[in-house]
Amino acid sequence: MKEVSCDIICDLIPLVRDGVANRDSVDMVMGHIEDCEACRQEFDALNPMELDGLSIEDENIIASIKRNIFITQMAVLILGAIIGVALTGSMGQFYNFIIMPILGGLSIKVLRGRWHIGFIAVFVLSYVGQVLYFIITNQFTWGVLYGSAIYGMFYISLMALGVVIFGLLRFAFGGEGDKNEEG
Ligand SMILES: [Zn+2]
Repeated sequence: MKEVSCDIICDLIPLVRDGVANRDSVDMVMGHIEDCEACRQEFDALNPMELDGLSIEDENIIASIKRNIFITQMAVLILGAIIGVALTGSMGQFYNFIIMPILGGLSIKVLRGRWHIGFIAVFVLSYVGQVLYFIITNQFTWGVLYGSAIYGMFYISLMALGVVIFGLLRFAFGGEGDKNEEG
């Protein structure tokens, strides 16, 4: 193993702690501080929290807020899908004209490139839910397999409508839609 001077390691430590060093530098520093007490202390002393004072701490807070928003939106998406599907065939069915477009918009916003997962989830949830309902209540006929698919498609259409509305709102607010939490 080739020897590297402590000076070089000390130069590299801030980069490694910042996460901007390349793989070889990281390996070099990590390998060196295993054997070199002085450099290990240097490495430990340079805690990323203290490195740039508030800025990194702020980034962590922002990241944690973003994560919380994401988790909340995911929860709303999942809960909305379950509630919406559960309302099928009941008096509350009407609410799906509001719930499904919101779910569509949320799918795009929360899942982004994987928005279709939201659509597929609602379709599958509604389809399986209805078929199970008819089986449990002993009302199952083969027509249920067909009718449930129609409901699923109907919900997906409403979600697609929500995507269009979401897109228009985003356009209207000049791409600032992300910051305007409208629901
Ligand atoms: Zn050293």
